[in-house]
Amino acid sequence: MKVCEIFYSIEGEGLDMGKPYVFLRLSGCNLRCKWCDTKYAWSEGVEIPVDKVIDAIARYGCNNVSITGGEPLLQAEEVYKLLDKCYNWSFQINTNGTLFNKDIFDMVDLITMDCKCPSSCERSDLNVIKKTYVEYAGKVQFKFVIANAVDYEYATAVILTEELKHVPIIFQPEWGSGMKWARQLIELVKKDAHLWTGDYDVRVIPQLQKVIWGRRRGV
Ligand code: SF4
Repeated sequence: MKVCEIFYSIEGEGLDMGKPYVFLRLSGCNLRCKWCDTKYAWSEGVEIPVDKVIDAIARYGCNNVSITGGEPLLQAEEVYKLLDKCYNWSFQINTNGTLFNKDIFDMVDLITMDCKCPSSCERSDLNVIKKTYVEYAGKVQFKFVIANAVDYEYATAVILTEELKHVPIIFQPEWGSGMKWARQLIELVKKDAHLWTGDYDVRVIPQLQKVIWGRRRGV
């Protein structure tokens, strides 16, 4: 598999925030999000056999593994092999909402699926979002990176139209838009509390790794 980097840190995003995790970042992505903070993963990386990747992960002695990218489902065959060999580890997969892979989704413990908003200049596939919701509501969290009010309106429309009820939804303020925007986003969510405190399980969570380390890589 083509690997961009393997490192050990804590989860900085979403529901598992703060837990120790080994990160396996795979190379290649089928999108080009405008504010992508891992552009180096679009092409940077080396081919490493799956067994050697497993050895590298095992050295950290941590059984929580986050498979990320890039878009890891582009290397689905290799990812499947890894999951199959390490069935006793706990896996999270981070995916951009353009690809659906039942074999892999069945095997992981947590699916973190992005739904791209307009500021990214890319689009997730709403059929993939809906299908993942319907089939994996018990182990999926949807993440909307939100950079402005237009993104917020788009995310709101998707959540309500697709009826993403009783599933964790993360509104992640886009880091480059600054803390002022993060505070504005919180105010928008507070204003719409009538939407977000019933069937819809919405929360605002910034990236902890950026708060602690800034834009440093491999943390
Ligand atoms: S899907 Fe993720 S890795 Fe790919 S361009 Fe967008 S933010 Fe970057």
